[in-house]
Amino acid sequence: MVGVAEPAAAGTYRVLARKYRPRTFAEVVGQEHIVRALTRAIARGRIGQAYLMVGPRGVGKTSTARILARALNCVQGPTAEPCLECEPCLEIESGADVDVIEIDGASHNSVDDVRQLRDTLATRPLRDRYKVVIVDEVQRLSGSAFDALLKTLEEPPSHAVFQFATTDPHKIPETIVSRCQVFEFRRLREEDVRLKLVEICEREGIAADEAALAALARGCRGGLRDAESMLDQVAAVAEDRITLDDLELVAGLARPERWLDLFEAVAEDRGDDVLRAVAGFLERGGTERDFVEQAADALRDLLHVALLGEDALGVEPAPERRERMRALAKAFGRDRLEAILGMLFELEGRLQRSPLAARALLEWTLLRAARLGRLLDLAELAERLAAADAGAPGGTAAATSAAPPPVAAPASAAAAPAAPAAPDAERSSRTTEPVPAAASDFASLLARLRERRPTLAECLERNLLTGRVESDRVVVELRPPSEGDRAMLEDPVERGALERVPGSPGPWELCFLEDSSGPPDPVVQSLLDTFGGQEESP
Ligand SMILES: [Zn+2]
Repeated sequence: MVGVAEPAAAGTYRVLARKYRPRTFAEVVGQEHIVRALTRAIARGRIGQAYLMVGPRGVGKTSTARILARALNCVQGPTAEPCLECEPCLEIESGADVDVIEIDGASHNSVDDVRQLRDTLATRPLRDRYKVVIVDEVQRLSGSAFDALLKTLEEPPSHAVFQFATTDPHKIPETIVSRCQVFEFRRLREEDVRLKLVEICEREGIAADEAALAALARGCRGGLRDAESMLDQVAAVAEDRITLDDLELVAGLARPERWLDLFEAVAEDRGDDVLRAVAGFLERGGTERDFVEQAADALRDLLHVALLGEDALGVEPAPERRERMRALAKAFGRDRLEAILGMLFELEGRLQRSPLAARALLEWTLLRAARLGRLLDLAELAERLAAADAGAPGGTAAATSAAPPPVAAPASAAAAPAAPAAPDAERSSRTTEPVPAAASDFASLLARLRERRPTLAECLERNLLTGRVESDRVVVELRPPSEGDRAMLEDPVERGALERVPGSPGPWELCFLEDSSGPPDPVVQSLLDTFGGQEESP
């Protein structure tokens, strides 16, 4: 999301995100669990020496770190309610306190930076009670900087308190993490962000439609700072009150109805309207990735309606929209919603790999999602026909509501041809063709796959080295596939199709062996990258 530069000329003007940054624990929004733990620790005098604040950007990690610094160093402290008026409180606020050192891990990431820090910490605080070090984006430190930091953390001076903040804890060495108290910051609830925006608008005298603030809260995905920055931008250009149209123009947040339009077009396989929806979104200034993010949000709502009923919605939609969502959730059904959501997640990865083909990839994915309804219908039909063919007893029609696959006991179950809890369809196909679950069974699974999904089967065979059926899974070893084949083999929809092959004991684990054949033809590869290299299944 776009950041907002502070206008230099506007003397007293402060961007909203900074103006409304929380200054006390009580003002921190949506992180009650952390506030509770910290205030309790301060009250009991149990101050840790190293804290790791983990969480998405803009949810209050560094603000909380500063509040803790103030709580520790306030002249009336240590106190959970710093006075905000003494020198340390004021100077920490403005970043001028000599004993509170704030570092950006992105720009101060060398071993020398850490050594310098260690030297600074060796002496006692100049004025305050503690020397507090706040390192933002700590995951950006270099390997040798982490090593140096670890030495300091192993024997920290008693007057030092470290607070590290990170969006990506997996990039921090375990040796460091294990020496920290870890606080996991949550994304804010949409409703909390909305209430905060309403409060800011009231205090700033900004007029805004309720629907616009709700959409803004939603669009920022739980990041309060982003929401505040966006409010700044929109307020600057809105005529007299902020509307959904302003949001669309300035922030690239599509009106909720547009997603309903899009998904209705997808549900009914109206390719022309799908393409128009994409064109409209991009013309209004959003990017393909914005599109995917927002579409996934809208789709998730539909999935919630399908699974939990319409009460599951956080923000009250208008009655007309509510009706359309209910109808859409019903038209799609859970399986198809999950499948399309999977395609969108897959698309996110592809957009990163092939940014130049972003629009083509987006359109192709949506068109494919539109076709998916027919494919699922066909697959279901085929399954029913197969079951009927096998002369299964009356219960077969209920195959779609089958019990979950059996949890196989290790050795004994492998010898039993039909597990007791197998879904009806599977059991019936096994009665006609009682194959023991041995290595040779893989060939017949493959044959069944070929009948159902010839394109997928071909793709698998093209790269196949070995395959074997185990009691609860199928293990397949493959040559390193082309990018296109790989995309197909990793596609969640296709993976689901593999698992649903009658007789399959569970998920298919596809292992790609190391590449030994040298790089693929660059021209072919770039075509495959661009177009995903995947053919439509019938
Ligand atoms: Zn104070």
